[in-house]
Amino acid sequence: MPTPLDLPALDGWLAERGLPAYRARQVRGWLGRGVLEFTAMDDLPRGLREELAASFRPSSLRELVVSEADRGLTTKVLYELDGGFTVEAVIMRYPARVTLCISSQVGCPIGCPFCATGQGPFGRNLEAHEIVDQARDAERRLRAEGKHLSNVVFMGMGEPLANYAAVVDAVRGLWMSPRRVTVSTSGLVPRIEQLAGEGLPVTLAISLHAARDELRDVLVPINRKYPLASVVGAADAFGRRTGRRVSYEWVLLAGVNDTPRDAAELGALLGGRLAHVNLIPFNPVDGTPYRAPEPREVRRFAVQVREQGLNATVRDTRGREADAACGQLRARVLREAAAR
Ligand code: SAH
Ligand code: SF4
Repeated sequence: MPTPLDLPALDGWLAERGLPAYRARQVRGWLGRGVLEFTAMDDLPRGLREELAASFRPSSLRELVVSEADRGLTTKVLYELDGGFTVEAVIMRYPARVTLCISSQVGCPIGCPFCATGQGPFGRNLEAHEIVDQARDAERRLRAEGKHLSNVVFMGMGEPLANYAAVVDAVRGLWMSPRRVTVSTSGLVPRIEQLAGEGLPVTLAISLHAARDELRDVLVPINRKYPLASVVGAADAFGRRTGRRVSYEWVLLAGVNDTPRDAAELGALLGGRLAHVNLIPFNPVDGTPYRAPEPREVRRFAVQVREQGLNATVRDTRGREADAACGQLRARVLREAAAR
């Protein structure tokens, strides 16, 4: 059964019944305002509402596991998709905003060696409505707490720009301004260029993690195809075209990319830009050779990056106990299933 957000299915359903075009406009109007329950669409005839409610299911996602952390501030949900694959999304509640970390693919074809998602096999791309349903479900949970979703970050499972069309459709299908949406990428240069021309002022986050090609080739293997200079060039062009400041992500791996040499190389690469660097202490992943640096080393690296004239903040390690970073709850559930 399709969901109402599967718009081609909805249009087909309405057309099959020969309903006038303004009915489709009415339904889309409600969906656009975040109302998915047909019974609440009170400008439609009652009979039509009931028929719609019987033909569409509220979400394409089935909740499998919910895990809470940070004394209820973080909620991580593992969903089953049609066909049986699983993906996860994480709600992070802050004093002035609520951010959802969302998945765009089952697994990830990029295969970064420190990332839980990158370790497993690639499953499939998510459809746009499966991406939007993650946000819908989060909004439903939050509404029950008197809260609302304010931001969405594509920092869950998958490389969003490797599922380009669905991700762009999903951003358009979200009810919040694109300014509140962050698309994080390992650096698919042609797609960054394409995104710059969509007229969607999202925040672009580049997962840099190394500022010399030799190291980035290992940490972010797509670098062998699109090396640093081309990624930073595409990010600059995106910034100019959209007027949005680009941010750079840097996962801190002890002894690997947290040395004074790395800070100096980062300064040389990004010097003179209005860039923002997010330093993310590594969230340990079993089966990888990497370690998280001590908090003192994190602070030292942040100071060294700022000494390069860059704007840098250390991201809090939200959701550690909920198996965040993204990909980790799913990895744990798969491990437990294999052990049984
Ligand atoms: N594929 C995209 C978006 C998803 S990953 C990308 O790589 O940008 C979102 C961010 O989480 C990336 O910056 C990624 O490098 C980081 N990340 C992945 N595994 C992590 C871990 N174990 N600890 C901390 N950050 C991690
Ligand atoms: Fe994919 Fe991002 Fe993980 Fe790399 S860090 S494997 S690009 S999800």
